[in-house]
Amino acid sequence: MYNPKSLKAEEFISDEEIRETLDYAEKNKNNKELIRAILEKAKERKGLPHREASVLLACEDPEIIAEMYDLAEQIKKDFYGNRIVMFAPLYLSNYCVNGCVYCPYHAKNKHIARKKLTQEEIVKEVTALQDMGHKRLAIEAGEDPINNPIEYILECIHTIYSIKHKNGAIRRVNVNIAATTVENYRKLKEAGIGTYILFQETYHKESYEKLHPTGPKHNYAYHTEAMDRAMEGGIDDVGLGVLFGLELYKYEFAGLLMHAEHLEAVHGVGPHTISVPRIKRADDIDPSTFDNGIDDDTFAKICALIRICVPYTGMIISTRESKAVREKVIRLGVSQISGASRTSVGGYCEPEAEDDNSAQFDVSDNRTLDEVVHWLMDMKYIPSFCTACYREGRTGDRFMSLCKSGQIQNCCHPNALMTLKEYLMDYASPDTKRVGEALIQSELQNIPKEKVREICADHLKKIEEGIRDFRF
Ligand code: SF4
Ligand code: SF4
Repeated sequence: MYNPKSLKAEEFISDEEIRETLDYAEKNKNNKELIRAILEKAKERKGLPHREASVLLACEDPEIIAEMYDLAEQIKKDFYGNRIVMFAPLYLSNYCVNGCVYCPYHAKNKHIARKKLTQEEIVKEVTALQDMGHKRLAIEAGEDPINNPIEYILECIHTIYSIKHKNGAIRRVNVNIAATTVENYRKLKEAGIGTYILFQETYHKESYEKLHPTGPKHNYAYHTEAMDRAMEGGIDDVGLGVLFGLELYKYEFAGLLMHAEHLEAVHGVGPHTISVPRIKRADDIDPSTFDNGIDDDTFAKICALIRICVPYTGMIISTRESKAVREKVIRLGVSQISGASRTSVGGYCEPEAEDDNSAQFDVSDNRTLDEVVHWLMDMKYIPSFCTACYREGRTGDRFMSLCKSGQIQNCCHPNALMTLKEYLMDYASPDTKRVGEALIQSELQNIPKEKVREICADHLKKIEEGIRDFRF
C-alpha cells in the first residue's frame, strides 16, 4: 500500500500508486480546466505533488506546454537568478562487481581498460582540475569491496581536500558511490563530503531487477532505501536521479517525485539535487538497444516540470548532453552543469590512448572550461564556482528553509561574483576575462542590499590583490 512515510521501498515507491497516477494523468491530459488549476497552483512556487505533475507531463497541447516553459523559466529566475554552478566529475576507479546492462563498467566487460587511481595519480588529476579552475568535484567509483572499499574512498577524499596548488583548492567533494551502510555514510559525512548522489536508474522494480541481473545492486529495496540510510548516517544533502531511456519516462518521473516527497515526509527535507542523465553510447553499450529513449523535446519538458514541481531542488546536467541541449534546458531550470569533463578513470592530466579506453560514456560537449564559462557569460549567465553553503553549515533543513524564504539569494549572487572573479584572475583566457569583468561590474549593481554590495565590492578588490576564498 502506498505510504510516503514508510521506510520500505515498495511502499513509498508504490507501483500501484504510479500506475494509478499514470491512468489519472492519461484521462486528464486534455482536461484544460484541471490543467489550468494545476498551473495556477504551481505559480505559488511551492511545488506540485506527483499526481498533478504527471497530468502536466501527459498534456500535449503546445500552447499549454509553452506556458509550462514560461513558468519554469520564471521559477528558475526567481530561485536561481542567472547563476549556473560549475563542477567536474572525477572517476576514481572503474572496477565493479555489478552487472548493470547499460554501463560499460559491468563486471563481465572484459575488454574495457580497468583502472584505479593511486593517491599519487589523484594528486596529478586534481592538480590538473585545479589548473582549469574547478572548485567542486563529484567523485565516482564502481562498486567493488576489494578494489574500492570505503577506506579507499575516504583516503581519496582526504587527498583531494589536502591538495593546494597555486591558488587552487577543491572546496566541495560530492560523492557518487554505490548504496552502502549507515556506518559508511557516517564515515563519508565525517570526511566532509558535500552531497551524496545516487541514481536510482529506474524506479520500475521489475525492470530494475532485469537491468541489474547480478551483484549487490540487484537488490532493489537496498538501493532505493539508500537515501534514508544516508540521512540516518548524518548526510543531509542527497542527490537523486534516474537514467532516462531505461524505462517509460512517465513512470520514472512519477517515481522521482514520489521519492522526493518521501524524503520530505520522513526527514523533513527533500533532495538537494536531481540529476537528469540520458542513456548514452559507450564501450559495449548501444543506446538503441533500449526502447525507451526520449527525444530532446520530451527531455526539455521533463526538465521544465522538475523545475516547477520541486523549485528548491538544484538540477544537474552533465556533458552527456550537447551544447544545444544544454542551452535549452539551462533556460528551463538546470542550475548546475559540468564542464570539460573526462568520464574515464584519469584523463585530466593526460588524455587516454584510444586502445586504453576506460570511459563510462561518450561525452557530447567537449569544450574546455574556459569555453564553457565564456559561452555562459555570452548568454548573460554567471558561472559560479561557489561552494559556500556546506562550509558554512548551511545544509539539510537549514539550507532548505533559507531557500524557501528566498534569503539564500543574498548569498548565492555575491558568492557567484566573487568566485567568478577568482576564476578570471587565476585561470581565464584574456577574452573570457574581459567579458567576465564587464559582467561582474554590471551584476554588482544587481545586489539589492547596499551593505552586501559594499562588502562584495571590497572582497572583489581584495581578490585582485591576491586574497582568496571570501564567502557569504
Ligand atoms: S552503473 Fe555503477 S554499479 Fe553499475 S556497472 Fe556501472 S559503475 Fe558498476
Ligand atoms: S551560496 Fe549555497 S546555494 Fe548559493 S551557490 Fe553557493 S553553495 Fe549554492
